[in-house]
Amino acid sequence: MFRNFKVVSRVVFGRGCFNQLDDILSGKRKATDSFMVFLMDDVFKNSALEERLPLKDQDLLLWVNVDDEPKTAYVDELTQDVRTYIQSGLERLPDGVIGIGGGSTMDLAKAVALMLTNPGSSADYQGWDLINNPAIYHVAIPTLSGTGAEVSRTTVLTGPEKKLGINSDYTVFDQIVLDPDLTSGAPADQRFYTGMDCYIHCVESLTGTFLNAFSQSYGEKAMDLCREVFLEHGPDSNGKLMMASYFGGMSIAYSQVGICHALSYGLSFVLGLHHGIGNCIAFDYLEEFYPEGVREFREMMDKHGIKLPRGLVSGMDSIDLDKMIDVALVLDPLWENALGPDWKKIMTRDRIRELYQKM
Ligand code: NAD
Ligand code: ZN
Repeated sequence: MFRNFKVVSRVVFGRGCFNQLDDILSGKRKATDSFMVFLMDDVFKNSALEERLPLKDQDLLLWVNVDDEPKTAYVDELTQDVRTYIQSGLERLPDGVIGIGGGSTMDLAKAVALMLTNPGSSADYQGWDLINNPAIYHVAIPTLSGTGAEVSRTTVLTGPEKKLGINSDYTVFDQIVLDPDLTSGAPADQRFYTGMDCYIHCVESLTGTFLNAFSQSYGEKAMDLCREVFLEHGPDSNGKLMMASYFGGMSIAYSQVGICHALSYGLSFVLGLHHGIGNCIAFDYLEEFYPEGVREFREMMDKHGIKLPRGLVSGMDSIDLDKMIDVALVLDPLWENALGPDWKKIMTRDRIRELYQKM
């Protein structure tokens, strides 16, 4: 069976295109008493970007904090905030949910849009195609480039048991607003880590056993763009990195990520590391599996003066280390993409433990 996957239906790209948001949303406002929910990264509190939000009287602005990556409990809390607002007199669901921020905020927006129309806790839906009802119309406006969250069919959440996405066709955004100017204020190290998420998506997709011409076409272009941005410092690097993120996301949509992502999920779950830096920490020890990619990644780190934290796992107790291995091992498709159908013979618990203990 070939995957028949859903893609984002509307895309606007260009420096300053954020100014079109009001127009875009006005077409979706159904009635005079309807409202939109804006989820915005609280790093933008009191910023010029806040001033530019096209808020109407009844709209709800929720500031979200992403010091920790999105947890199911936080999604449930934000969804409840919207429900409480509805009960205060509006008695109708919002016409849209708009997420403005990096991958974490975009994932929160996807998850809240889904949970407003699906009963229970977001933790009940971590997995593949467990969502039954279409989400509220939802829009992403990235302020960091690299994760590909703007194009993917998942929202990655840490639940009580696992770090796993809500993967479904309903998860995909209806509209994305790609304005490279919004990424210009990101701290240099964060920009690097999130950018490397994209670079590693490409390495894992292009060297994986699931590769096909669709994934390769997007992956190669995204990788070239990453090289231009991180090795050549050419012009328009914000625009290029934004398109690399989009293309990298499209590449893995029809293939898969690999070993670095599986290990990075374990690092995030137990140590609370953010995805981008977690990937960088893991990737640096994967020369055996991705020789070319790791060599080029180190060149990029040198060029940008990035020093990764070391010795994070070596002193860890065995319960935590075992949990980390459990989290990494459930990600079957990632291992299979990297190592083929017999991956379990190659990647044993002990082998994963050895890799973690280097970090
Ligand atoms: P992030 O959203 O976690 O943000 C990292 C930091 O950068 C935060 O402190 C944030 O406040 C800050 N920030 C964001 N934009 C800024 C800006 N313009 N200026 C200044 N500060 C800014 O970072 P990320 O790397 O984009 O996202 C990582 C998250 O994405 C993880 O939760 C990961 O699980 C998720 N992810 C999702 C997918 C998917 O397909 N859904 C794919 C990969 C990663
Ligand atoms: Zn990633």
